[in-house]
Amino acid sequence: MSEAAKPAAPAAPRAAGRAGRNTELSEALKAYKGVWVFVEHDRGHVNPVSWELMGEARKLADKLGVDVAGVLMGGPDEPLDAYAKDAYAFGADRCYFVRDPVLHGYRNEPFTKGLTDLVNKHQPEIMLLGATTMGRDLAGSVATTLGTGLTADCTELNIDGRALAATRPTFGGSLLCTIMTLAYRPQMATIRPRVMQMPRRDDSRLGEAVEMSLGMIETDVVTKLLEFIPDANRNTVNLAYADVIVTGGKGLKLPDNFKLIWDLARVLGAEVGGTRPVVQAGWIEADRQVGQTGKTVRPKLYIAAGVSGAIQHRVGMESSDVIVAINTDPNAPIFEFAHYGIVGNAMQVLPVLTETFRSHLNKRIRKAA
Ligand code: FAD
Repeated sequence: MSEAAKPAAPAAPRAAGRAGRNTELSEALKAYKGVWVFVEHDRGHVNPVSWELMGEARKLADKLGVDVAGVLMGGPDEPLDAYAKDAYAFGADRCYFVRDPVLHGYRNEPFTKGLTDLVNKHQPEIMLLGATTMGRDLAGSVATTLGTGLTADCTELNIDGRALAATRPTFGGSLLCTIMTLAYRPQMATIRPRVMQMPRRDDSRLGEAVEMSLGMIETDVVTKLLEFIPDANRNTVNLAYADVIVTGGKGLKLPDNFKLIWDLARVLGAEVGGTRPVVQAGWIEADRQVGQTGKTVRPKLYIAAGVSGAIQHRVGMESSDVIVAINTDPNAPIFEFAHYGIVGNAMQVLPVLTETFRSHLNKRIRKAA
């Protein structure tokens, strides 16, 4: 289905009361219905966080008895229709398209206009974006333009009554707080990659397509995209989507001992992770930090050596399928949530594990040959 763009009627932000809090939804905002996901794509690839959020949006929408929609914005020559097929397969009932040359390559201004115009016209009650560089940039400007609430870096989403209950760490990760946007719509949240599970795809699902034009020309956009120069070091570390991760902590004592982590990772075909103190000490790159201020991971196997299991580390890796901890202290917090624990010196245990896995894998290779 295609609709001609109508001038957007912005939802006027309401001033807070004397007590500084509005908790009543105005009659106009009660009309807002549906859960939306901003489908983030760049250079021909959709960021998988969008599909993780689509699965979460489906659960929220089913509780509310409303539809799920994906928002696809990009240049006319970009494969938005192919992305929409994936969006339907992952749970969307509808996709909103905004196609315009000024939307080829992310820039805040045209994307903010496109998304705020769509919201004002079609009025969703919840909007989810990935807590990625793009998602964080866009969510902030859209929430500010619409005068609504945004909860960043959520770790859990739920429905309380009709409101979105968005949970996120606070006070340096030592507490969790649940934030609700009671008097404004849409309720916006960003969620980091790998916090939510990837939904199962169902290719038999189809959806409705709704088009809207942007009404902007290149001279309206202050920022110019002159060239894309990829960061040579980026994307080499795929921690968030790795199946196996071997992580080292400060218990390894010396930077040279971190070689034992690399050795085990190489044998297992794993990625290498680290705790914040290890990153701060310069033993590994910042891209490899796991935890609240690093990456959230969900591997099938997470091996942590010399890692205490502080809450700020735990929040980034506790969804791993199997956690194996190696620590000299039997009372280390990591043993409270690890599936398997080895109480021992990592400098002795790691080489033994590496050799055992190496010989086991060699045997399997010989058998298969
Ligand atoms: P330690 O706490 O020093 O633990 C070392 C562990 O190694 C101990 O349990 C010890 O028993 C064990 N050990 C000692 N010797 C051996 C040995 N020979 N063999 C085996 N085990 C041994 N941390 C993160 O990791 N990621 C984050 O994203 C993050 N974000 C943070 C954000 C904020 C706002 C704050 C305040 C902190 C954050 N931290 C983060 C830091 C976090 O609080 C912990 O300090 C950190 O996770 C501890 O790192 P660690 O386990 O390597 O070191």
